[in-house]
Amino acid sequence: MKRNIVIIGGGPAGLAAAAAAVEAGEKDVLILERDNHLGGILNQCIHNGFGLHTFKEELTGPEYAARFEQRVHELGIEYKLGTMVLSISPEKVVTAVSKEDGLVNIEAKAIILAMGCRERSRGALNIPGFRPAGVFSAGTAQRLVNMEGYMPGKEVVILGSGDIGLIMARRMTFEGAKVHVVAELQPYSGGLKRNIVQCLDDYGIPLKLSHTVTEIHGKERVTGVTISKVDENFKPIPGTEEYYSCDTLLLSVGLLPENELSTGAGVQLSRVTNGPEVNESLMTNIPGVFACGNVLHVHDLVDYVSEEAAAAGRAAAQYVSGDEAQEEGKVITLKPTGGVRYTVPSTIRPEHMADLLTVRFRVGNVYKNCYLSVYFGDERVQHRKKQVMAPGEMEQVILKKADLLNAGFDTVTITIEEE
Ligand SMILES: Cc1cc2nc3c(=O)[nH]c(=O)nc-3n(C[C@H](O)[C@H](O)[C@H](O)COP(=O)(O)OP(=O)(O)OC[C@H]3O[C@@H](n4cnc5c(N)ncnc54)[C@H](O)[C@@H]3O)c2cc1C
Repeated sequence: MKRNIVIIGGGPAGLAAAAAAVEAGEKDVLILERDNHLGGILNQCIHNGFGLHTFKEELTGPEYAARFEQRVHELGIEYKLGTMVLSISPEKVVTAVSKEDGLVNIEAKAIILAMGCRERSRGALNIPGFRPAGVFSAGTAQRLVNMEGYMPGKEVVILGSGDIGLIMARRMTFEGAKVHVVAELQPYSGGLKRNIVQCLDDYGIPLKLSHTVTEIHGKERVTGVTISKVDENFKPIPGTEEYYSCDTLLLSVGLLPENELSTGAGVQLSRVTNGPEVNESLMTNIPGVFACGNVLHVHDLVDYVSEEAAAAGRAAAQYVSGDEAQEEGKVITLKPTGGVRYTVPSTIRPEHMADLLTVRFRVGNVYKNCYLSVYFGDERVQHRKKQVMAPGEMEQVILKKADLLNAGFDTVTITIEEE
């Protein structure tokens, strides 16, 4: 089978990319989704707070996804559910399996990677203790409560204050559980400020920064956990141990892009994000393979996922139509430094960029009353005062094509400065 654009993943990124590709004039688009419905992780995010930027409304996750699903239906875009993509070859052959079609190989002119991310598990943490029942990742607990109708437990401790951990602290409270504490290894929360206020402060749930779980108690089922304060090297400080009696430990300790398919295809990954390195068109090192959404870098807001994915969809349509001259032209490298951890994209071909390009990134620490600066070569061209920047919130700068065309520099540096 041959297709022009194959999109892997039918979450918000895949849906927005598909709609934008069709709106840009490409009719042969196929979405492959392993789940039995479109919408991705949003189906289990029944809290509100989605779509504030895109629709100026506070939607729940399923409502937000439904708007994009409706667009996919209106545009008559083909999708296959229950279809697991097993591999992608460097020649852009997608191998997928489903009950209906069995094993199929699809030769694609362009591929959009939109597989989302997954949670880090207990195995990545090395917490001592037995392996009793009652230890869940926060996302698994969210699915059990919101989609399957099961309560994971009644007395809860949460490790990790990323957005999923914060949302689940409130969700478990709504369902009648007692959430004793949220412990966070870092000296700051990894979640959005609004989630700390709305999910912990409003319900009197304590957040213990610079703390971690040092022991899980219980043989058959969790009976409690020990939490300790950590020093600046994240080593537990002896004598600071506190015991919390609980039957459930939820882990919200980070998300990782689903990058197995990308790696198999020979896509070059960023060591910081674990997602693909991309240029201004969100194209990877393999011509015609694009990436967007959480598989590219973990986003805080789904609005940015949709925006970024639409750009990937348009770029893929342009690639397939052959409109874009394929020669590289000048390439400018983006250099994240001084607390800026990475940038997406990491390179820019000015001839191929849109009039305005949004560069997104995260910082590695909490910075207060500082400046976000952009340098073209050695010349500082942007210098924006920021009250606060934190790792939990994505930042962005906007670059103009007019400034980069015929530029006499090869590097754009994005950095944080004190003055
Ligand atoms: C708990 C939680 C709370 C959140 N709260 C908010 C919030 O309040 N506000 C907000 O704006 N954002 C929030 N977000 C973020 C937002 O949900 C994500 O940014 C967004 O869902 C990412 O979209 P995606 O399409 O990249 O990934 P996903 O939604 O994960 O979709 C990826 C899709 O790819 C499919 N897939 C993966 N591998 C394969 C394969 N091999 N073959 C076929 N299909 C595959 C998956 O089944 C999935 O459907 C939250 C996220 C979580 C997890």
